[in-house]
Order: sequence, then C-alpha cells, then structure tokens
Amino acid sequence: MRIATPGNTAELIRKHGFSVRKKYGQNFLVDASMLEKIVDSAQIGADDTVLEIGPGLGGMTQLLAERAGHVLAVEIDSALIPILGETLAEYPNVDLVNEDILKFDLKAYAREHGTERFKVVANLPYYITTPILMQLLEGDAPIESITVMVQKEVADRMQVGPGTKDYGALSLAVQYRAKPVVVAVVPPECFLPRPGVDSSVIRLEVYDKPPVEVRRPDHMFRLIRASFNQRRKTLANALSGDPSLGLTRERVQQALEEMGLSAMVRGETLGLQEFARLSDAL
Ligand code: SAM
Repeated sequence: MRIATPGNTAELIRKHGFSVRKKYGQNFLVDASMLEKIVDSAQIGADDTVLEIGPGLGGMTQLLAERAGHVLAVEIDSALIPILGETLAEYPNVDLVNEDILKFDLKAYAREHGTERFKVVANLPYYITTPILMQLLEGDAPIESITVMVQKEVADRMQVGPGTKDYGALSLAVQYRAKPVVVAVVPPECFLPRPGVDSSVIRLEVYDKPPVEVRRPDHMFRLIRASFNQRRKTLANALSGDPSLGLTRERVQQALEEMGLSAMVRGETLGLQEFARLSDAL
C-alpha cells in the first residue's frame, strides 16, 4: 500500500499508536504528486544507490526503492522501525539502519558494500538541515547529487553570494561542491503534520572538480566557519579569536593586504575564490 496520502498516513499512525515527534522534525509528506516530482528530479535509475535520510513512515522510500538498485535508509527514531518493517516489506532492496545520520559512517558503508556513488534524497528534518548538509558536503564520501526538501529560507541561503544577509558558511560549502537548483516550492498542506513555514526542494549536482582551487579544502572550511561564527567581527579578529587555527591578528591582516584587501574586512564580504586564496596564504 502506498503510504504517501493523507488518509493512508493517518491510518498507519493510528493503527500503530505512533506519536509524531516534533523533536525529530517529523513532518510526513502526504502529497503523492509532489513526492513524484521530487523523486523524478533526483533522476534515479536501476544502477543507482540512494541514501535516504529519515525515511519516516516509508512513503518516499517506497518510490525510491521502485526506481533505484539499492536504497540505504537511515532513521534515528526507533519507534518508526517496526512501522517501516511493514511499509517496506515488499522492497528487499532497502537496507534500513536505525541510527543518527550525523554519527553514521557513510564512507565505511560504501567500502563494505562496494558502493561507488550515492544519490542522496530526503525530506530533511529541519532542526538539523544545516549540519547534515555541511557533513555531506565537507566530508569526502562519494556523493553524486543531493535532492532534498528544506525550509525555503535555507534553500535561499544556499544560492546567495557575499553582501546579502543570508550569505554564510552553508552558501560557501554548497557552492564549492555543487550547483544548486530549486526544483519546487512546497506549501505546508503537502505535509502531515503541517510545518509552520514554506519548504523548497533543492537539487545539488556535485561537481567532479570544484570551481576554485585550494590546497587544503578542510582548512578553508575551518576559516569559513570561524569567520561566520563571529560575523560581526573583522575577519582578522574572528580568525585570531579561534584558538584552534593558531593565527595572530597581524598574520591575517598581512595576508589580506597581500591579497589587495583591507585589513578591516569582514568575512561576509569575501567570495569563495577569496577564501581559497586566503586559506592558501595562511
Ligand atoms: N521521509 C519521510 C517523509 O518524507 O514523509 C519523513 C521526513 S521527516 C521531515 C524527517 C525524518 O528524519 C523523520 O522520520 C525523523 O525521525 C528523521 N530524523 C530526524 N533526525 C534524524 C537524524 N539525526 N538521523 C536520521 N534520521 C533523522
């Protein structure tokens, strides 16, 4: 039985006496045509392995399993596991793991299962959207594309550049690794229970080669995070104020001046190319 309709979802919840957990960001997608649109945009074929984060009741998982060769579904809420056992009973190509995605070792899983590349598809839990995306984008797990439902304002943040209030570490992490394309804007009525905000489906096509060269991407991202953690401070103060970086204010100011920038700039005015050059210089 297809789960992603308002009637079937409500009936499943009632039958299992399941209480929806707000703390896990549980808003189940119950609009079958929106679901179809999301899965279509993820461009999944029989050779693909899909990582679904938070399968919930299994509505999206069913559709993914019909199209993909293999689906790895990682769900934190153990109360959902018996329900998923029922809704996914007819899909032997789903590997269901009861774990926190932020603690899950995707690289080790890929090694053990001989997975070359994952396509990530998810209706993400909104309370941890940014950490999940940062982990996927900054880690070196083999990911081909990421198609996810997020809060509309988070999707907006992924696409902006310097000089806008939404610009931040997430914008830079996304733009270093992928090209973001908004697939759909999704109203609250498509979910049960309904969230208080509009949502967007965004597709990130991961580049084979990043658009800028940097010797140590991990170092660049540490600089980026430190500068946006204290975004009201000058870059020199923000970076020298993070002891893990081991930088003095003078050192940062000198590097900025050598790049032709003011020693008083804030991180939020620098683009990806400038963070890459600064990282190499430091
Ligand atoms: N995929 C389902 C759907 O579209 O109807 C459910 C989406 S719901 C917005 C988010 C799901 O992520 C929930 O099932 C929730 O329990 C799960 N979740 C929340 N935090 C998680 C975490 N840290 N790791 C794995 N799953 C998580």
